[in-house]
Amino acid sequence: MTEWGDGTRCVHTGSAEPVAGQPFLAGPVLAAPYHLGPGHLGADDFYGRAGNPTWRALESAIGGLDGGLCTVFPSGMAAITTLLRTLLSPGDVIVVPADGYYLVRTFLAELDVRAREVPTVGPWTPEVVAGARLVLLETPSNPGLDVCDIKEIAELAHAAGALVAVDNTTATPIGQRPLELGADISVASDTKAVAGHSDVLFGHISVTDEALWTQLQRQRSMGGAIPGPFETWMVHRGLGTLDVRLARQAENAAALVEVLHRHGGVADVRWPGWPTDPSHAVAVRQMRRFGGVFTFVLPSAEHVTKFVAESRLVAAATSFGGLHSTADRRARWGDPVPEGLVRFSAGLEDSHDLVRDVLAALDRALAGPVQ
Ligand code: PLP
Repeated sequence: MTEWGDGTRCVHTGSAEPVAGQPFLAGPVLAAPYHLGPGHLGADDFYGRAGNPTWRALESAIGGLDGGLCTVFPSGMAAITTLLRTLLSPGDVIVVPADGYYLVRTFLAELDVRAREVPTVGPWTPEVVAGARLVLLETPSNPGLDVCDIKEIAELAHAAGALVAVDNTTATPIGQRPLELGADISVASDTKAVAGHSDVLFGHISVTDEALWTQLQRQRSMGGAIPGPFETWMVHRGLGTLDVRLARQAENAAALVEVLHRHGGVADVRWPGWPTDPSHAVAVRQMRRFGGVFTFVLPSAEHVTKFVAESRLVAAATSFGGLHSTADRRARWGDPVPEGLVRFSAGLEDSHDLVRDVLAALDRALAGPVQ
């Protein structure tokens, strides 16, 4: 499958051999216990917390795209926390992004480990990774959209004896392949672009090491944080269109970023796909495409509220990667960013409609006094 393009791989990777009279994508298998049969356990599955063929089909598909062995989870946080619990022992040092998804830092504060917070842009020196068991990167970071060099940091971290995990949520498995760049682990919230329809939470971990994969599967089975077969099937269904969805989202992001850069009322537009963006040089080296998430800053929180109220197409929502264009004022959740910073997720609307709507909403939001 690796010789095919992204669109072909999204549709076909992990698909079972076609069987006449059977659907293209087998339906969700809903089972708590499975029939054991009369004798020895001859089947793969015996109990739904330990194994499910709908999980395995999606694990084969996502693992194929990531280039690793995949384990699926019911959310991004279930994936990340299982990873951290599996790898870290009391007293271990973990390097985490100071500017990444905030809940990871909150979770670590409650574990008996030493979390060393480092901004995504570094500095990445031997001292920063010294003595660490795990270096967790998030690139592009959420919400700052800063980027770090996975290959360089993996070399640095491996020399210090640390494992490297990358939160690949913003990029997706077809936007960036951390395992190919030298990371040991790629972990993601598939709630975003992979599932893509704003109707299901999901997550996964892909790894290169079979022993670690076995440990993660065992941890999932014991911990009981298992994805529902129906949700798993929905994610698999969504994965088939990831390539075309991301292409439209990136096209819309590029069109919006272009007009926002020229807009006098908007500051600090950030999108790794933009040639003058501070992240661009590293991003083009390691990313395979840019998604639809970008940020910009309006003068105040009230301007953001008014912007969303004035738009006919943009909804306020705290996720990204879905069909609909959405805007999230990140400071409302406590991220250390300007009050007026908007994380915008470009949806699948027509570019010209979206640009027209966003410009009109900005004009109205920025005109006159704000209540
Ligand atoms: N990682 C990143 C970068 C995220 O943006 C999120 C969610 O917003 C998560 C992890 C957590 O994922 P979930 O909400 O699916 O638990």
